[in-house]
Amino acid sequence: MPGFELFGDKERKEVQDVMDSGVLMRYGFDGMRNGHWKTKELEAGLASRMQSQYAHAVSSGTAALTVALASAGVGAGDEVIMPTFTFVASFESILALGAVPVLVDIDDTLTLKPQAVEKAITAKTKVVMPVHMCGSMADLNALKSICDKHGLLLLEDACQAIGGTYQDKPLGSIGDLGCFSFDYVKTITCGEGGAVITNNKDYYGNAHKYSDHGHDHIGNNRGAEDHPFLGYNFRISEMNAAVGVAQLSRLDEFIGIQKRNYTVLREALSNISEVIFRTVPEGGEENYSFLNFFLPNEEVAQKAQQALNDAGVDGCFYWYNNNWHYYKKWEHLTQMKSLGKLPKDVIESLPDYNKVDFSESDAWMSRNISCLIKLGWTEDEVAQRAKKMVKAIKSSL
Ligand SMILES: *Cc1c(COP(=O)(O)O)cnc(C)c1O
Repeated sequence: MPGFELFGDKERKEVQDVMDSGVLMRYGFDGMRNGHWKTKELEAGLASRMQSQYAHAVSSGTAALTVALASAGVGAGDEVIMPTFTFVASFESILALGAVPVLVDIDDTLTLKPQAVEKAITAKTKVVMPVHMCGSMADLNALKSICDKHGLLLLEDACQAIGGTYQDKPLGSIGDLGCFSFDYVKTITCGEGGAVITNNKDYYGNAHKYSDHGHDHIGNNRGAEDHPFLGYNFRISEMNAAVGVAQLSRLDEFIGIQKRNYTVLREALSNISEVIFRTVPEGGEENYSFLNFFLPNEEVAQKAQQALNDAGVDGCFYWYNNNWHYYKKWEHLTQMKSLGKLPKDVIESLPDYNKVDFSESDAWMSRNISCLIKLGWTEDEVAQRAKKMVKAIKSSL
């Protein structure tokens, strides 16, 4: 998955443009910048590649989620539905606005289970936030119709699935808002960065203002701009955006390499009848950043994970025990360990996650192994890896 593996002349050239002008900021300094507007270029390229009307780049994927929620008017006490399997950024962005993260079960797609979403809806629910984990998507048709029926917003976290599609539309472009991360280990990277995409003019207007202290970005004198509402600073720097411009131009090349490597491994594992691959919703195409599969039970999965490690097959994750991606280890959330006082709405409304039953998520996650697909492998390395994986998994059955 990581774009840092194939990093070179294109990235260097874009960064050099910024170095030559010395303008490290995305706004202003028109006379000094030799015509270089890397952030704007990244945004235009992303909007076009993602078939969306608007794209706004920010400082991280977490910032993108926060800005997306804020731009849609999410605030104190609003409930946002999110999955038990995701990165901690999901609840961080919700909590940052004083809103309440409502965790619900996943299914064999490894993403939100639509029926569980519908059950969790209350009068305070404002957003459903599916997270397209490990390269593949939630059942977006089912979630969209739930959102339409209940008047909720659909916000896609596509941070791990950039370049994947659903019914021929780019992931991230299907919901009311979509978010990407360009952190160092994502499919395309700019060191630190992220972006929000939308077709909603108002959300876009709110997003660029909110992420720059409320600046209205009218005219070309920053000091004289107005501030229609309170904002914050989630700006991306021109240096990071410059790297992003180069990496975005290579997205399809990266996905092609991932698909080739993924396919070799998948075909090898298909010969083991006990291996069941993660369900991809009908009409969906992964971005091939991970190969995800289930083993018959928790014991076999743990044994297989150990055997893969012992065989030197790196990059295979057993998320069930993972500190960052599964609710079981989020004791900072479940015990509300916060440096300062949390907002009253959060204290009063956050469910007691020590008591909620997520046995359905546990049943899937305890059987799941996800193997990272790298870009830098040679054909021979992929073939060797496939052999080692088959042997390690068979030895665990
Ligand atoms: C990486 C990631 C994020 C956050 O992105 P950062 O750029 O690291 O802040 C959010 N959601 C998911 C699913 C991610 O994988």
